[in-house]
Amino acid sequence: MIPTATPATEALRDQFGRRIEYLRISVTDRCNFRCVYCMPREGLPWLPKAEILSYEEIAEVVRQLAPLGLRRLRITGGEPTIRPELPRLVQMLRAIPGIEDIALSTNGVRLPQVAGLLREAGLDRVNMSADSLRAERIVWTARRDLKFDPIRSALAAEEAGLAPLKINVVVMRGINDDEIEDFARLTLTHPWHIRFIELMPVGEMRELTWDHVVPSDEIVARIRALGELAPSDGPARGNGPAVYYRLSGASGTVGVISPLTHTYCAACNRVRLTADGHLRTCLFGDHMVDLRTPLRAGIPLASSFRAALAGKPLEHNLLQMRVGGLRALSQVGG
Ligand code: SAM
Ligand code: SF4
Repeated sequence: MIPTATPATEALRDQFGRRIEYLRISVTDRCNFRCVYCMPREGLPWLPKAEILSYEEIAEVVRQLAPLGLRRLRITGGEPTIRPELPRLVQMLRAIPGIEDIALSTNGVRLPQVAGLLREAGLDRVNMSADSLRAERIVWTARRDLKFDPIRSALAAEEAGLAPLKINVVVMRGINDDEIEDFARLTLTHPWHIRFIELMPVGEMRELTWDHVVPSDEIVARIRALGELAPSDGPARGNGPAVYYRLSGASGTVGVISPLTHTYCAACNRVRLTADGHLRTCLFGDHMVDLRTPLRAGIPLASSFRAALAGKPLEHNLLQMRVGGLRALSQVGG
């Protein structure tokens, strides 16, 4: 292992004093879905294999950042479960001292096959995306018929012991907003955390416009009509930008994530590692530092990491639509 030049006790902070302890790791830019809000139907120009970090390289990045204060990891994509041998990466990350929590973001299609293997390898928990509970609508939004059954996949994660389970629903007016109540009702009988995400109108979405955005206040008002709704702390682990509520007597919670109508940048504690080894300090904009070149040259990463944090912006400017050439969230892991 390459030694770091910084004392182990010094916490990583960005230029605004925000403590950085959470890394989202994209392991592939490819996906078995083509969600209408994320990727063009024909896909994207995929990264050549030689440019993608190997599992050994990803683990080395984490090994070097953990002594600087990195504590929580999320494996994402594209769709991470389509990269071969994903449990091998989980095992390697689990063995790194200082890492307290390893989560996975997935479209859920392969969970029935891989949930148990990932849990055995040391994965703690899963965020699963599901935009509809209706088979024909899932095919429309994902633009693929992979027989995805969200309930079956959620139960597979639960049975494997991957908890707390969060289910992310991107709400699109006139497309799936009539299912807000159905999703919310799932929390009455399942200990799941259903999070409704405001559609972010970025990238190349030919079918969607700003008219499809449903503000989170409207989503909460509609859930409130189902019954008594109280603010909640949400799941015990991994609370990010979501605001949570609990329906009276429910086992799970509902949450809203409002990248458009409420800014949560002030509390941002995360950075992103792209599949080709660049560190992105904000989901939007073009603040990026190359870690792959120093990594492959055997140069310690601490100074590149600090340089990246020095450029982490105070907040994103999504509402101004200045998104710095980002074509799809699949390229940066969402
Ligand atoms: N493939 C995995 C999945 O779908 O969960 C992980 C990667 S995906 C890019 C991460 C998250 O970004 C998903 O929850 C997805 O719904 C969300 N996402 C992608 N494009 C979005 C958009 N335009 N607006 C809101 N959320 C989006
Ligand atoms: Fe794939 Fe996830 Fe993007 Fe859908 S949201 S296309 S599943 S990366």
